[in-house]
Amino acid sequence: MQRFEMFINGESCAPASGEWFDTENPFTDETWAQIAKGNATDVDLAVQSAHAAFSTGPWSQMSASQRGLLLHRVGDLIARDAKRLAELEVRDNGKLMAEMLGQCQYLPQWYYYFGGLADKIQGAVIPLDKKGYFNYTRNEPLGVVAAITPWNSPLLLATWKIAPALAAGCTVVIKPSEFTSASTIEFAKLFTEAGFPPGVVNVVTGFGADVGSPLVEHPLVKKITFTGADSTGRAINEAAARQFKHVSLELGGKSPNIVFEDADLEDAVNGAVSGIFAATGQTCIAGSRLLLQTSIYDTFVDKLVTLARTAKMGDPASMDTQVGPVTTRPQYQKVLSYIETATQEGATLLLGGKPGSAPECGNGWFVEPTIFGDVSNNMRIAQEEVFGPILSIIKFKDEDDAVALANDVRFGLGSGVWTKDIGRSIRVAERLQAGMVWVNSYRAVSYMSPFGGYKDSGLGRENSIDAIREYLQTKSVWINTGVKTANPFVMR
Ligand code: NAD
Repeated sequence: MQRFEMFINGESCAPASGEWFDTENPFTDETWAQIAKGNATDVDLAVQSAHAAFSTGPWSQMSASQRGLLLHRVGDLIARDAKRLAELEVRDNGKLMAEMLGQCQYLPQWYYYFGGLADKIQGAVIPLDKKGYFNYTRNEPLGVVAAITPWNSPLLLATWKIAPALAAGCTVVIKPSEFTSASTIEFAKLFTEAGFPPGVVNVVTGFGADVGSPLVEHPLVKKITFTGADSTGRAINEAAARQFKHVSLELGGKSPNIVFEDADLEDAVNGAVSGIFAATGQTCIAGSRLLLQTSIYDTFVDKLVTLARTAKMGDPASMDTQVGPVTTRPQYQKVLSYIETATQEGATLLLGGKPGSAPECGNGWFVEPTIFGDVSNNMRIAQEEVFGPILSIIKFKDEDDAVALANDVRFGLGSGVWTKDIGRSIRVAERLQAGMVWVNSYRAVSYMSPFGGYKDSGLGRENSIDAIREYLQTKSVWINTGVKTANPFVMR
């Protein structure tokens, strides 16, 4: 059985506990590898090594341009290894090869973009109100960053954290999800190959309580950047507050995809289907609430169900598979339990609703693409994040009604607006309480554009220039240019 060790101080290393845990292939339901079971001792080793790299190692002496060059080099290595990394993710995570190849080929752009940004973060000279002083600011890296990632997109989400953190001059300890650790471990080795000094990028594998908690609590960790469930994010934020640590949180969503009667219905149907069923619904920005104007409800639902019915489930490694398995067994059970809840709540099942039973699904953890109609916004299926291939359809009367329903959830991550009326698109985009609004499109993401949530969907932003600021702190330097320092004991 293949074993994946942790990656600390530029080297693979066995866990201090001597223990390992299994990782399963969600398509075959078989254990395919073992992962090092880390604990607080491994966390301390990784954080100490990241701290040494940050404060005294060669990394701390590098210019911002040199850091940028290293980021470019690692981008090239990721491009070289895109297929190998994609295959690993497909096996460990059940993600579609068709999606992963594209994603791994796109990942280098984050390293090129933030590599380019590294030496363009400038301070300012302040036009002070006080004569006799020269005042300027510096943007300095925070220090050791703990990057904690979920199972749904390990390499992409780690990249959203690592690239800006390294560009800022920080060092990183990554804690991948216990369900999907393998790809992150292999990924980290590329940083050493690219020439990053030991300790700049480390990976500690294991469970939330054994690794995540001690990492958050470690006094040398100055910033926590987390993507995952809102309940975990809340616990991390509380723990971090006790030591005044910086925190960014990318949490869940219950994103509305709003279709007005004047929309291009063919486009909107495609956008609604890909908005929820891409990545088997396991994305934080999944358009899991479809808001339909009453006048087009029946026509739209017909077209939607007809298209969704054609989705091809099967082996995620096949390029023509469109819906893969759910990534983890607990998540598979959770998704099925939400189907039961929605049925009990009185929603009308329009499609799916069962575990995938097609022969192509084998022993995999498949759930049929499922659509519920007649959902009211106060049902659990409309308020709670399922994180699976379940779509809830809700009717609305007019623009005000649509906005009110869209905002009536505690989350605020993504949102979609389908209309040909430009004035309406601008009005609605302004009124939606969400970090991202897509008009006549859904799910577009770029390294250049800010990504993050309103309300319970999180704190801080990833991607774009905003992201690098999450890893910097400002220092204000005052220089006396000739004012005599007065005797403080002489009253004037
Ligand atoms: P999770 O919160 O259970 O786990 C995420 C990570 O946190 C894992 O690495 C886990 O081991 C670790 N962890 C668990 N307890 C911890 C603790 N006490 N201290 C520190 N670390 C701890 O989430 P998940 O089940 O892996 O991922 C699915 C969730 O992630 C969904 O709710 C989804 O909405 C959310 N998500 C959000 C985004 C986003 O960008 N907003 C992206 C992807 C996923």
